[in-house]
Amino acid sequence: MSKVAKITTVAVLVLAVCIVIILKQRMSPALGTKNDVHTKAMPRLVDVGAKTCIPCKLMAPILKELKTEYAGRLQVDFLDVSINPGFAGQYKVRVIPTQIFYDATGKELFRHEGFYSKEDILAKWKEHGVDLTAPKLATFERLTPAKVDNRPKENICFMCDGDINPRALVTVQSDKGPVRLCSPHCYFIMYSCLTEDKTDFEKKVSVTDWAAGKPLQATEAVFLYGQDETTGRPWIRAFADQADATRERAASGGNILALQTLQQKELSHRCGFCERACYPQDAAEVIVEGGVHTWGCCSHCALGVAARTGKNIEVREKDRLTKKKIIVKTFDGKVASLEPPTAVAWFGQRKKPDGTWGSAGCFHQGFFVNTENLKKWVQKNPYETGRLISIHQALAAKMKLSPEQISKACKIGECVPK
Ligand SMILES: [Zn+2]
Ligand SMILES: [Zn+2]
Repeated sequence: MSKVAKITTVAVLVLAVCIVIILKQRMSPALGTKNDVHTKAMPRLVDVGAKTCIPCKLMAPILKELKTEYAGRLQVDFLDVSINPGFAGQYKVRVIPTQIFYDATGKELFRHEGFYSKEDILAKWKEHGVDLTAPKLATFERLTPAKVDNRPKENICFMCDGDINPRALVTVQSDKGPVRLCSPHCYFIMYSCLTEDKTDFEKKVSVTDWAAGKPLQATEAVFLYGQDETTGRPWIRAFADQADATRERAASGGNILALQTLQQKELSHRCGFCERACYPQDAAEVIVEGGVHTWGCCSHCALGVAARTGKNIEVREKDRLTKKKIIVKTFDGKVASLEPPTAVAWFGQRKKPDGTWGSAGCFHQGFFVNTENLKKWVQKNPYETGRLISIHQALAAKMKLSPEQISKACKIGECVPK
């Protein structure tokens, strides 16, 4: 280090401890802000400073790095006394910047006044026995299905791989032959993925009369659209005869709709990443910084909204096994917080004809609150293949997609007849 640089560093450090705050006790009491509380059961580093002081400015990139590198393991908060002078009194700070170290229970371990380097901060945590290294992720994969799928092909839904109830079958004529789907909903998912000209597309679609079990043109059917009482998830039944639909409505409830109205309803909620039609009841909620509310048709698509919008997002997903809540917050394209911190992702994959592995599609992805739940779900779903990845890895995979790849998301493959 040159003499000038040394002198500058010393001057900065001296300046750091010289900035004394005159505690303005007469000023209004501390106004609570979002980052002045210890929100999670994890160690917390608080930096009390101001955006205008030089050593505080030097702390800013260090805090940002710590925030992203130790996301989910260390809470990092910057408290600005120029915005809220009450912080100085609340945290008993004499000079800015001051860094305060708290353990996961909120007990203060140590505090430091003035500029503090990243190395020193990490060493201090270590000295106090706080381990910030990432826990080794349990590895788990299943690349061969537990059970061979012997179901006749015509009984499997092209879109979701579910069993087809013959009374709900939808058939679409494509140039690759007839495509069989388990429900009008799976048909609209496919419809929302098509990039071809969709004029008169309905003419290629036949549905099944729920009453008689016979096929009929979708354009000639009426639809009973109801909602499951407990989940709120819609169900759809097709009828050739209005009288049958009315009779069914008396028994099961719902509204009778023509194809066009049904289509509007079905296409009203789209995945914020791949634009596929989805039901909010099946989807992950995504809140984009700035207030936009959208959906992820699957957990991975939900994370993809961060890549597509370039903004910080909050994903509210449910464990696929237990429906327990999982919340992921992103910051600068990285996971900033994860609730619960044990949450993991399943990356459903399938072997392609050329022997390489690719995504098994949105129906085969999911988040779990922990590895045990993921393993239990895999056991319950003998045809699923894929592997466990961290939610950080799942987000990183989306963040590295090019804008062109994002625009083609899902339309590249699994959803369109081949
Ligand atoms: Zn289906
Ligand atoms: Zn999607």
